[in-house]
Amino acid sequence: MNVMNEILEKKIFTQEKYEEYIRSCMSWPGLSEEKKQEYEKDMNGGKCGMCGQEWNRVEVNTRLANYFHFRPSCECSKNKDKEKRMQFAEKQVVEQLGIPEKYAMCTLRNMDVNVKPDTAAAIEEAKRFYLYGKFKTGGLVLSGPVGVGKTHMAVAILKGLAIAEHMRGRFVCSSDIIADTINEQKDYIKYLTEYDAVLLDDFDKLATNKASEGSWTYERIFSLINGLTNRNRIILITCNYASEGDFKSFFGEAISSRIHEACLFLHVPGENYRMRDVK
Ligand SMILES: [Zn+2]
Repeated sequence: MNVMNEILEKKIFTQEKYEEYIRSCMSWPGLSEEKKQEYEKDMNGGKCGMCGQEWNRVEVNTRLANYFHFRPSCECSKNKDKEKRMQFAEKQVVEQLGIPEKYAMCTLRNMDVNVKPDTAAAIEEAKRFYLYGKFKTGGLVLSGPVGVGKTHMAVAILKGLAIAEHMRGRFVCSSDIIADTINEQKDYIKYLTEYDAVLLDDFDKLATNKASEGSWTYERIFSLINGLTNRNRIILITCNYASEGDFKSFFGEAISSRIHEACLFLHVPGENYRMRDVK
């Protein structure tokens, strides 16, 4: 018998060896129940836990192995892994963007569109801005009453820009811009203008401080908006104003005209809103 034949005869991984190997895997301490079931199905066959399709029997006959086992006949587990990877990537993006926990899951896909027609129209408009308009206009101002989903839309767009366009973005609670703790950080405004896209949530909170021209607060807001627009950054603003005119009366000409030039104004009419359950 020549050497080749000898190797061919020595099927190292026989059915017996394979089953021994699987049993040893199954006896690992700390093995999850899910993994255990997978090993069990690999050896004896079974059904996909998600779609119920029977696993296929697969013969392995190579130079060194001769045994059979079972593999899924569907794509479910592959898709599940993909989903897990995407969820992980999304979690990282949410952290990088500084998005608060309660808005972490917001996407354009899970906006509730079963709302009054004019609210649904505003949602569609926001989607259009994201898909086609974001490089034409420098930003989006979403105005309207509390609880209509403005922040949801803005967060979804910010996340979309980060994931699909690889933009560096930042979620900012507008009141932080003038908060004492942040005042001490001299370069905070400059730091924000370094981002490609900045979401200023509850922007009207700044106006309640009666930011009169010349005051420290006013100058701070002005230098932020001026810095962002001069650098062609994308600005996403949410506020409770009823109209564009409110901007002028609260922030004065210099700030409001810059925002007006750079941004598309979109009014989201009042209506209670909830996140759609999308899986
Ligand atoms: Zn399946």
